[in-house]
Amino acid sequence: MTRAASCYRPVVPAGARAVVAGAFGARHGTGDATLSVFDAPGFDDHELVVFGRDSASGLKAIVAIHDTTLGPALGGCRMWPYASEDEALADVLRLSRAMTYKHALADTGQGGGKAVVIGDSKTDKTPALMRALGRLVDTLGGRYITAEDVGTSVADMDEVRRATRHVAGYSEGGSGDPSPVTAYGVVRGIGAAVRHKLGRADLGGLEVAVQGVGHVGYALCGYLSEAGARLFVSDIDDGALRRALEAYSAVAAAPDEIHGLDVDVFAPCALGGALNDATIPRIRASIVAGAANNQLAGAGHGRDLAERGILYAPDYVINAGGVINISLANDYDRDRAMRKAEKIYDTLAQIFRRADADGLPTDQVADRMARERIAAARTKAAAAKTAAKTG
Ligand code: NAD
Repeated sequence: MTRAASCYRPVVPAGARAVVAGAFGARHGTGDATLSVFDAPGFDDHELVVFGRDSASGLKAIVAIHDTTLGPALGGCRMWPYASEDEALADVLRLSRAMTYKHALADTGQGGGKAVVIGDSKTDKTPALMRALGRLVDTLGGRYITAEDVGTSVADMDEVRRATRHVAGYSEGGSGDPSPVTAYGVVRGIGAAVRHKLGRADLGGLEVAVQGVGHVGYALCGYLSEAGARLFVSDIDDGALRRALEAYSAVAAAPDEIHGLDVDVFAPCALGGALNDATIPRIRASIVAGAANNQLAGAGHGRDLAERGILYAPDYVINAGGVINISLANDYDRDRAMRKAEKIYDTLAQIFRRADADGLPTDQVADRMARERIAAARTKAAAAKTAAKTG
């Protein structure tokens, strides 16, 4: 075992920092101030939680593997200046569980996991730190595969790759920018929502308000424009806004008004939390379907949308093109990624029908369907095991 790898030994004396929860142990922190990982906000029967420290590079990281029933956990590594370890732990627990659900409904054959590095990516990130992260990931033997996320980049994954092969989204021979695949999945998802809510098979003449015309929003505008939709766009970045206005005959809207426009579809493609107590009462579109992660600011906001008769395409289902793209990173083929993203249409159509039948908000139906897929895979695996023993 290398010196660095020994820093991440799973079993450590009480009071030390690197602790594994799940099958091995349950507490992190030092001295008297310990917090039970099992009681931490966001803990949901995670299989494994690893705290990794490398003093030479300054790495302080947590990897959470939520569920590997459907395959090895795949999820990005976020670098963020968390105010406390508890905050970082809560984030990695929440994000890794979300990855399980996302993979389950995108049918990628992967499980859910995530890593967080505590630190400021602008000032604390070094190649040595990324290699230390790679060594941490490597100790998990492929049970967790890392990738880029907020605060990490393709170049960082190249460094990680020097220490482990359990990484996706690096530059050479990798899957490249996922945004076009994500945008394609979103336009197919809008198609499914329009079919369900408005009974229309095409997007010609449809009015769509796109909030945020960055990587995904801009590519989405391209697909929508090709399909003959009328576009309204907003962005807080003047350059991004101008680029979209020049490329497509779109109408500019103010960032604090875009959600209230009288259009058919509101597509949040900027940051999370676009659907909240202030915005939901003002939405006039009958469909909300966009790329942004964590669109619902709170747990009850999916219900609030449903009660207003607004059809919401659950964010992690409609924006799954990104994980589909990265899950195919080995032996990458863009056409294959697009074909797989195409299936987002069917998954959403199923969610919408079931939400109507069961009288539930679409976000709750999506979570249920993800849990059912995992439970079915567990039952199947148990049956196969029994058959192998008795046969
Ligand atoms: P991006 O940073 O390229 O684009 C986001 C754009 O939103 C930027 O142009 C930014 O200026 C703008 N913006 C920020 N706040 C705004 C506001 N209040 N009003 C209007 N515009 C605002 O990011 P991206 O890669 O296009 O991702 C967009 C969203 O989709 C994010 O939430 C991301 O997590 C999610 N997502 C992206 C992918 C992907 O493949 N890139 C995959 C899945 C989910």
